[in-house]
Formats: sequence, C-alpha cells, structure tokens
Amino acid sequence: MKRVLVVGAGIHGLVTAVREHLAKNQVFIVEKRKRIGGRGTSEESFGHQLEHGPHLLLKGGELHNMVKKVSRIKPSLRPLRPNKVMIVGHGMLQPLDNPKQMLAYKLGKDPIREDAVRLISGWGQDIPERSKALMKGRLCVVGEGWSGIVGRLASTLEEVGVPIQTGMKIVEQNEKGVVTSKGIKIEADIVRMCDGSPVGDAVKVSTLDVVLDNRPLKGLHGLVKGDVAILNLAAIHSKKAPGMSHFSCIALSGGVQAIEDLLDERVSGWRSHIITKRHNNSITITDSRGQLSDGVI
Ligand SMILES: Cc1cc2nc3c(=O)[nH]c(=O)nc-3n(C[C@H](O)[C@H](O)[C@H](O)COP(=O)(O)OP(=O)(O)OC[C@H]3O[C@@H](n4cnc5c(N)ncnc54)[C@H](O)[C@@H]3O)c2cc1C
Repeated sequence: MKRVLVVGAGIHGLVTAVREHLAKNQVFIVEKRKRIGGRGTSEESFGHQLEHGPHLLLKGGELHNMVKKVSRIKPSLRPLRPNKVMIVGHGMLQPLDNPKQMLAYKLGKDPIREDAVRLISGWGQDIPERSKALMKGRLCVVGEGWSGIVGRLASTLEEVGVPIQTGMKIVEQNEKGVVTSKGIKIEADIVRMCDGSPVGDAVKVSTLDVVLDNRPLKGLHGLVKGDVAILNLAAIHSKKAPGMSHFSCIALSGGVQAIEDLLDERVSGWRSHIITKRHNNSITITDSRGQLSDGVI
C-alpha cells in the first residue's frame, strides 16, 4: 500500500483518487478552494443549477463508465439530437429530411456543417470520436448537472474513507511529498498533480448560462452561428427548467457579446424574460483525450 496524495479536487482529481483507492493505495486529496469540483461545478441560483457553459457527457465514455461503476443509481442522461440543432442560414446540424445535404456532409463537402459539428462536440477541439458520438445521439445532458457527477464521486470517496482537505494550496513538490502555502510539509510516496493545468493546446472561450421564463425556441435543442453555440438544456432534458428555457451558450471568439448578439438576433425580447443569468469571459478548455484530466472527456 502506497501513500498517494492527489492535488486538486476537480473531476480529474476525484477520478484519480477513486482509481488509486481501487488500486488499494492510501489516498488523501488536497484542494486549494473551499469547494470541490473545479470547473465541473454548478451554482444554484433561483432554484436552477447554472454551470460554466454547456457540458455534454459522452455516453459510454470514460467518465460515464467510472460514475456508473461507483454509483448504485445510473445518472439520468438525455441526448442532444443533432436533427434538432439549427445552423443559422444553413439548415439542421443533421438534416434527416434532406438526403442531398446529408450526402454532402458525409463526403466532406460541407465545411459549415463540419465546423458546427466540431464546435458542439469538442468546443473548438477536433475530436473525431465525439463528433461521431454527437451525430449518433451519444452526447448527453446530465439531469443532475456536472455537479451531480462531482457529488457522486465525492460521496464514494467519503464512503470509503478518503479524506478531502479543502482550503489548502500546494506550492511545492519535492521527492518527499509536497509543501502547502502555510509551510506545512505533507509526506507521500506518490503525488498526483490534478490541478487543472492545461495539457495540450488550450482554447479560451466565453460562456453564458441563462434561464428564461418562456420557451421562444420551443423544442429546438440548439442554435449555431459561426463559432457561437446556444444549447437549450430545458428542451433536451425534462429535469432542466420544465416549461421554461435554460440556455447554456459558448463562444470561441467575440466574448460574451457574441453570444448576446446571437440571442438578440434569434430570441427577440429574451432580456425581459431572464430569471437568472451568469457569464464567464475567459475560461480554458483543452483536449487531453485518454487522460481524463483538464479537457473534454
Ligand atoms: C465551457 C466548458 C465546457 C466543457 N464541456 C465539456 C463537455 O461537454 N464534456 C466534457 O467532458 N468536458 C467538458 N469540459 C471540460 C471539463 O469541464 C474539464 O475537463 C474538467 O472540469 C476539468 O477537470 P480537472 O479536474 O482537470 O480541472 P479543474 O476542474 O480545473 O480542477 C482543478 C482543481 O485543482 C485545484 N487546484 C489548482 N491548483 C491547486 C494547488 N496548487 N493546490 C491545491 N489545489 C489546486 C483547483 O482549485 C481545482 O479545484 C468543458 C469545460 C468548459 C470550461
């Protein structure tokens, strides 16, 4: 049995800790913030869970499998349907009723649709397996939100007695272990850095999450224009703001303004129906396939 110290209690840190526990090691997690979950958290506001931009879980992917393994009750997933996502001025993301457009996309002769698929499946990263999963309806909205996934991992760790120390920042790593910002030395045989540092190429994106008291887009799952995407979580999953709209939006360029411009263009009057709203002007996403760390999983 080895003493394993995990630095960071984001999704990567929590999953790493579960894995190390399953490998029969003695595990301890240290997190600099008061809250766990890192970028995988949501905040409750007026009874709604608002995340940092849209998150879609790959059904059958690594994170989904881990969550299924540790939980008795399966997470409730609903797929984003590509035939219900509209590319402004170009048709549906998956134009089921238009075989000519479908063929052009399959033959690689539709760059606008290809860009839109890349945008929604990898938030700017080119991840062929996620693009395929999107078109097959395997990218899903999680009913309980990303924070629910975090909660499941955290309660598993609590059950098996893995401690999570919050409010403790690691500033140094050496051959004996780590040192905290208060000068406390913690010894460990292995240190796993899961601090969310970018792995691979990173993109900076902007996000906006907003709940409206009406349903201007009706059953539409999403809207795409250029490198801005608006997903309507309420149309995808019945647990999200029933009878209302829950838009989770992302822009690869142009900031939050680009998202608001698209809402102004396609969802007239949305500002007078806001129940709650939150935005983030600069958030990092990187692709680190296979590492289940900082990136689209
Ligand atoms: C807008 C957006 C959309 C996304 N969409 C998807 C998606 O659809 N599907 C998907 O799978 N993924 C998606 N992701 C990616 C997913 O959110 C991240 O992969 C995941 O949350 C990153 O987890 P992490 O644990 O690697 O990093 P983080 O969540 O950043 O966690 C790192 C943790 O380490 C702590 N920490 C840092 N430094 C220290 C230190 N020195 N000492 C102690 N603690 C420290 C931090 O406080 C933090 O809690 C998206 C991300 C964003 C931003």
